[in-house]
Amino acid sequence: MPEWEPVIGLEIHVQLKTRTKMFCRCENTFGGEPNTRTCPVCLAHPGALPVPNERAIEWTIKLGLALGCTIAERAVFHRKNYFYPDNPKGYQISQYDEPLCIDGAMLVPGPDGDAEVGIIRAHLEEDAAKTIHVGGATGRIVGAAHSNVDFNRGGTPLVEIVTQPDIRSAEEAKRFLQLLRQTIVELGISDAEMEKGTLRADANVSVRERGETGFRTRTELKNMNSFNHIARGIDAEIRRQIEVWESGGEVVQQTLDYEVKSDTVTARRRKEEADDYRYFPEPDLVPLEPSRGLVERLREELPELPGERIRSLGNEIGFDSALELVATGNEATARGLVEHGLDWPKAASVAMNELAGREPLRENFRALVAIIQQRDRITREAYHASFASSVTTAINSDEVLAQTVVADTAELEPLVDRILEASPAQVASYRGGKQGVLGFFVGQVMKETQGKADPKIVNELLRQKLDA
Ligand code: ADP
Ligand code: MG
Ligand code: ZN
Repeated sequence: MPEWEPVIGLEIHVQLKTRTKMFCRCENTFGGEPNTRTCPVCLAHPGALPVPNERAIEWTIKLGLALGCTIAERAVFHRKNYFYPDNPKGYQISQYDEPLCIDGAMLVPGPDGDAEVGIIRAHLEEDAAKTIHVGGATGRIVGAAHSNVDFNRGGTPLVEIVTQPDIRSAEEAKRFLQLLRQTIVELGISDAEMEKGTLRADANVSVRERGETGFRTRTELKNMNSFNHIARGIDAEIRRQIEVWESGGEVVQQTLDYEVKSDTVTARRRKEEADDYRYFPEPDLVPLEPSRGLVERLREELPELPGERIRSLGNEIGFDSALELVATGNEATARGLVEHGLDWPKAASVAMNELAGREPLRENFRALVAIIQQRDRITREAYHASFASSVTTAINSDEVLAQTVVADTAELEPLVDRILEASPAQVASYRGGKQGVLGFFVGQVMKETQGKADPKIVNELLRQKLDA
């Protein structure tokens, strides 16, 4: 049996969150009443002329720089011609053989070291309108009674990023996408949310025998709407292709949809590979020639990128946790806790669990660390309450710690002993099999401590003594 090696390249589309659209001044926002944000330019009225969005160009350059790309001295918008109702002009303004960003690479840290994924290009284009297929079971055009078009999305600035076929597993593809998404979010250029369609990714997949140098025929997987589905889709396609080759067949180049329910891929009806877009330069737009001064200014504005941070964090808490911490946006919280004296593993765990998704007030970090360090001495209620309020109100660690002294086993033990001694009948009844009597004892301890004892510790102590 040969050992098969997957070969994967990704094509990613990202909607930029500029205030206005790519070539007109219509508001660029997600959702809303259909067809309310349109104008003669994005509806393709005759004679309307496009004016490029400067911010979108700068953001694309910024992303290109973050991906290690060279920024072209000259980039050209092309018309990509095709006929479909989502496209009133009959063409999409895109970039073709002279894209804005070329030849980059992203380091993707992983459990077995870094992988480098080459970036062929990142270019700027406009999104199509949204077609909504009504009346079918699947929401796709097949079986639909009719289709509506919402032109609000038409003309949204869209960056397309194309990777080299450098990715070698579904897991790595997912990691690449997580890291790319985080980079985009931190650059502040898009929300990059797959559920909203502001980030979309297609996967090109082939397999070859390990040691082979050339690539075999690839297929293109579309219609996946979460990172997990992408990983599962790629895995399903890898399995299918291996089966085809091993049974003496040939993989055919085609576009496929992944269906989550059946965990299988199905062929699309449209033959997209056969398309001929008759690209030609957009006569209504001059070529982009970003000045080197602008490029250098944008380069200086780049923040420290998440890939670098994940790599150094990996040494502290392990690669998987580092990626999760950064990709869930809980990293700043963990850093704040570490700055105030907590160790990394504990800080990461608190940030991802107790505090997940909530950022405590800066002034609360010192108190939070004190509370975390005293965790075993205070009640669970007080512990959780302090986290809940740490987001919105100033917390005082002295108060929290003082009001909740009695989770300390050493403090509770004599009291428990006393209560058991005072109720021999109940002790006998518990030992005779009436487990429910435990509640009676817990109640006694709570009464004596005015409710300040940690019920979990009290339960443990009681069981220890009664079951002995
Ligand atoms: P096209 O212009 O036809 O779309 P590209 O060369 O631009 O083709 O490649 C598109 C995507 O397919 C890229 O992400 C690339 O990495 C990927 N790709 C190309 N060949 C293969 C292959 N044999 N196996 C897997 N992915 C591939
Ligand atoms: Mg392509
Ligand atoms: Zn418009």
